[in-house]
Amino acid sequence: MQLRLYDTLMRSKRLFEPLDPARVRMYVCGPTVYDFAHIGNARPVIVFDVLFRLLRHLYGPERVVYARNITDVDDKIIARATEEHPGLPLNEAIRIVTEATDRQFHEDVEALGCLPPTIEPRATGHIPEMRALIERLIGDGHAYVAADHVLFAVGSMPEYGMLSKRSLDDMLAGARVDVAPYKRDPMDFVLWKPSKPGEPSWPSPAGIAVEGRPGWHIECSAMAWKHLGETFDIHGGGIDLVFPHHENEIAQSRCAFHTPIMARTWMHNGFLQVEGEKMSKSLGNFITIRDLRAEWPGDVIRFQMLMTHYRQPIDWTRSATEQAAQALEGFRQVITTAQARDGRLSTPVLEALADDLNTPQAIVELHRLAAEARRGNFHAACDLRSTCRFLGLTLAGDSLQDIRKRQRGDIDEAHIAALIDARTKARAARNFAESDRIRDELGAMGVVLKDSKEGTTWEIAG
Ligand code: AMP
Ligand code: ZN
Repeated sequence: MQLRLYDTLMRSKRLFEPLDPARVRMYVCGPTVYDFAHIGNARPVIVFDVLFRLLRHLYGPERVVYARNITDVDDKIIARATEEHPGLPLNEAIRIVTEATDRQFHEDVEALGCLPPTIEPRATGHIPEMRALIERLIGDGHAYVAADHVLFAVGSMPEYGMLSKRSLDDMLAGARVDVAPYKRDPMDFVLWKPSKPGEPSWPSPAGIAVEGRPGWHIECSAMAWKHLGETFDIHGGGIDLVFPHHENEIAQSRCAFHTPIMARTWMHNGFLQVEGEKMSKSLGNFITIRDLRAEWPGDVIRFQMLMTHYRQPIDWTRSATEQAAQALEGFRQVITTAQARDGRLSTPVLEALADDLNTPQAIVELHRLAAEARRGNFHAACDLRSTCRFLGLTLAGDSLQDIRKRQRGDIDEAHIAALIDARTKARAARNFAESDRIRDELGAMGVVLKDSKEGTTWEIAG
């Protein structure tokens, strides 16, 4: 099976060939840990988890190295720590914020069925590598020291802008706002900056006398280098990272190592919006993974994410969540009814994934397997079970009815049973006005009745 992936750098889908098939290497930009992760942050985590699973299947689990970093030094972290723990020394406050956020993030993504990456490097554990990279760049004339900062000289790299395909004019227009006076060129970006009093600080590179801290972009170049080498196979993240973050990572790594590439394939997931609007705190439609998990099992959230191709924008809606929950309930029922065991991975599903992670097509195939299983094909039920698990969907949790009951919280089953009993009696007495009234009363409570020869059962409507 041939894996084809869309490469942002080439703007085309290309055959994926690892630099070294015995060590397939992927780097994905992970979270900045200062608050609960939102559902948009979950998108790259889930998308690249599917790719990780596919690579492990294609090349062997022990041959794939997946590094997803944790940014644990950053302006937003410092601001949050100052705000939440004003009485504490800043370093202590930062430790509390990052440790708690780190733990929440891991609980959340585990619940979404994501495997732990092979390595999760932390920025603060890679300061010596960052310093070494910075000194190489200065030594080769790609970076300079100014006012205790180190800046990357964008003009020293003729191919700067290749990933984002921005024209120099566009980039300049963006960079001209508030240009720091020490920059030689408005587009030059920070590799290292002096720390303000109380901020986390480390000995600076290049003989700068005051202590400082790294810029964001250099973190990823350093961590990727340490764990994956000077060049590697896949670099991923959300589409918002193309410029400037990934453009700058490429500039740093290629100039430091004199390589024609940093990563062979650059992959970017599309953005997530909520009910047709940009997700933002001010609009009040900011959904954390934690909030969603309180309502829905991780399986449902993961499935909903995979219903849209990773490069498309995704509109996160309540009705899509319902659709995901119903699809999974259908799979769960067919697997349970057939008492399915382990089967084979569906080849059409694998083929869909190998075509630039076409998860919507993979889902079409899952529905096809489920339909076959419903017609009594036991092997299809077994294959469905195994293929869902391969995709990180456990199908092991509660039934949709139990989920809805939990969501409603106020369901009084005894009261419903009494109403149904009264309705049955009314019907027996041919008092249809009364029996209809009771059905409507139940309907207003979101309870739907199903009459059969065996009697009347009820469900909570979606
Ligand atoms: P951050 O913690 O903001 O650096 O983001 C971590 C990852 O989540 C990055 O790969 C971002 O590109 C991605 N990301 C952030 N917001 C969204 C969103 N609304 N939709 C999709 N991806 C996002
Ligand atoms: Zn990064």
